This record gives sequence, structure tokens and C-alpha cells, in this order.
Amino acid sequence: MGRKLIAIMFLLISALLSAGCTGGGGEGQGDGKGGAPHVTGSVPGGLDANEEADIFYLREEEKLARDAYTYFCDLFGAQIFERIAESEQTHMDAVLTLIDRYGLEDPAQAEAGKFTNETLQEMYETLTTRGAASETEALAVAAEIEETDIVDLQEALARTDNPEITQVYTSLMQGSENHLRAFVRNLRQLGVDYQPVVLSEEEFETIISEDIPSVRGMGS
Ligand code: MN
Ligand code: MN
Repeated sequence: MGRKLIAIMFLLISALLSAGCTGGGGEGQGDGKGGAPHVTGSVPGGLDANEEADIFYLREEEKLARDAYTYFCDLFGAQIFERIAESEQTHMDAVLTLIDRYGLEDPAQAEAGKFTNETLQEMYETLTTRGAASETEALAVAAEIEETDIVDLQEALARTDNPEITQVYTSLMQGSENHLRAFVRNLRQLGVDYQPVVLSEEEFETIISEDIPSVRGMGS
């Protein structure tokens, strides 16, 4: 076998390896020591039961988004799922900084698609089953996941006055709004006019209108 052929094969294999869907089960995930910056300094006061429960839930809710998008990426290879799964990993890391900060035990399991919270486990199974039907259905499920995240973050924000927690949740919310716009935009490009299922029509339109072109203006 010639040296040139070996070089070509090496390039092909490298390309195959780097093109895979990321997000689940990689290094630094689910081991409680992710790459997010850790807050230093003394812990100011304790958390009440609601704040703790919200941190646990949101940590796994971010994992649900990451694992579902990774699953859809594996099925359909759509690049949007890979990109947003990576973003969900940073959201998981951000909630982990709160877990570490307050000396809590991380509920997130390393295995993709496995959840400590039973509600999230059921949600994951229902949503991935629905989304597996087609890429369009997967995008609609993804938009629904983002809508749900936004509402859950709004409720968690209303239950805390802790500035560190508020800062993390606010940035997660901005991420969810960006993701919702991206999924809805992709659906429109496929000719699907997504309608909100969790948010009110008014709230949905406010979020979507921030930077999305109208259906008429798409030209596609
Ligand atoms: Mn997120
Ligand atoms: Mn998201």
C-alpha cells in the first residue's frame, strides 16, 4: 500500500471520527467535574427546599435537552442538533457550578437517556419516541423542549432571590430563547409553521419576533 493511499485513509478516518454527534458520554461529562468555571469564595447562606429542588430538576432538564438532541443528531445527522447539544452541555455545567457551590449531590447520571427524576425519565422517553418519526417531528419536539425549559426557568426564577442562582438561570433562559428561535427557523425552512404548545401565543411571538424573519420574507 502506497504512502499516499495510507495518508488518504488516515484523513478519511479522521474526518469520520470528527463528524460524529457529540454531547453524550464524552470526557468531563457527568463526573461532577465539568469544564465550567467554578465560583470561588464562601457560600453565602443556605438554600431553601424550593431552591434545592429547582437546581436538581434543572440540572437534569438540561441533560434531557442534551441527550435528546444528541439522539436526534445520531438519527438524522442534522447539524443544528449537534450544535445545540453542545450548548446544552454548557448549561449542564453552569447548573453544576451551583451544585458544587452549595455542596449538593449531583443527580445527573453519566449514561445518556437515564434520569434520576422520574418525570424527566418519562418525558425523555415520550419525546424521543415522537421525534424519531422524522426530522421535522424531531425539530418540533426540540422546540417544545425549549418552550418547556423557558417556563420552568421562569418559575424557578420566581422562587429564588439568590443573585448567583438568578444569574445562572437568566443566562440559561437566553440560551433557550436562542434555541427556540433556531428550531422554529429550521422548521420554517422546511415549510412548517410551528405553533407554541407550552408558552402563550403572545409570549411565543415576543421571543420569536426578536430576530427571526417572517415566513413571507424567507424567500425559500
Ligand atoms: Mn439549555
Ligand atoms: Mn436549549
